[in-house]
Amino acid sequence: KLYNEIHELKGNIRVYCRIRPFLPGEDQKSTIIEYVGDNGDLVIANPTRQGKEGSKSFKFNKVLGPTASQDEVFKDIEPLIRSVLDGYDVCIFAYGQTGSGKTYTMTGPENATGNERGVNYRALNDLFHISHNRGDIIMYEINVQMIEIYNEQIRDLLGSYEIMNASQPNGLVVPDATLHPVNSTSDVIELMRIGLANRAAGSTVLNERSSRSHSVVTIHIRVVDLKTGATIRGALHLIDLAGSERVDRSAVTGNRLKEAQHINKSLSALGDVIFSLSQKNAHVPYRNSKLTQVLQSSLGGHAKTLMFVQINPDVSSYSETLSTLKFAERVS
Ligand code: ADP
Ligand code: MG
Repeated sequence: KLYNEIHELKGNIRVYCRIRPFLPGEDQKSTIIEYVGDNGDLVIANPTRQGKEGSKSFKFNKVLGPTASQDEVFKDIEPLIRSVLDGYDVCIFAYGQTGSGKTYTMTGPENATGNERGVNYRALNDLFHISHNRGDIIMYEINVQMIEIYNEQIRDLLGSYEIMNASQPNGLVVPDATLHPVNSTSDVIELMRIGLANRAAGSTVLNERSSRSHSVVTIHIRVVDLKTGATIRGALHLIDLAGSERVDRSAVTGNRLKEAQHINKSLSALGDVIFSLSQKNAHVPYRNSKLTQVLQSSLGGHAKTLMFVQINPDVSSYSETLSTLKFAERVS
């Protein structure tokens, strides 16, 4: 309820910045974080300039500091999940350079259990929990799709893993991607495990590939009122984006250069779409990338978007962090 009220005021796009902690072995002293406020304020320090000159301020809907727990990160998301069951489309993205904590936020650390679990697991848990508690007069049909977008090619991670032709997605994420009925969080987790294994089989080095492709898990919900027969549909998209780091064009060639160009193109297309939605522009440039085509019906309109912008606190990432924060500032 509260979420929806806030939402009406601020539009349908929220941006949360999450700062990952230093990892064991990293030097805590080399942080660029100067200030994290309760109201979404963030100040970072430019390492090449001293004092006020070097400080840069940003404002987001929320900033989650390095000590924020997975619980804290999920706290505000439950109302979003509820709105999926009320027939809304919701997209939750993780954006940032490789190593900034995107997968940690969405999935958790490898083999996560209990409190370590990320947004995906918690969102699904909520979804099933709420739907089971709404009583007998409402029927829920829940189906899952999972795709990967790599070099502007779409593959079904729960199907043949062949490249799919998805020039005309409408309503469903990708018409050709297989739909899998599920009844519980563990059903979905099992599907995600299979999807991940398919993804690994399709590439030589999983981490390499996964940092250069977008993964989109979609939970489709059909809600049927058994008394009146009325039906509504909602969808939840959980998106772990490809790493946003720019590559040195003079230093890479061949496949690596092609990958970088595709990632760059699709992330800027995403930024352009969200920006035009936030400006309430009449024309929204969905056609410029596969990612935005696939998500077209779930971005804009009554859809709700939450973007986690992930940053690494280390000084060595300063210029990447700055460009990540600028991307975030533009879409928020
Ligand atoms: P990305 O998906 O953006 O490449 P990862 O999620 O893989 O980044 O995070 C990089 C490393 O940092 C991983 O070892 C991960 O477990 C760790 N990490 C990221 N965020 C956190 C966090 N909030 N708390 C503890 N460890 C984290
Ligand atoms: Mg990752």
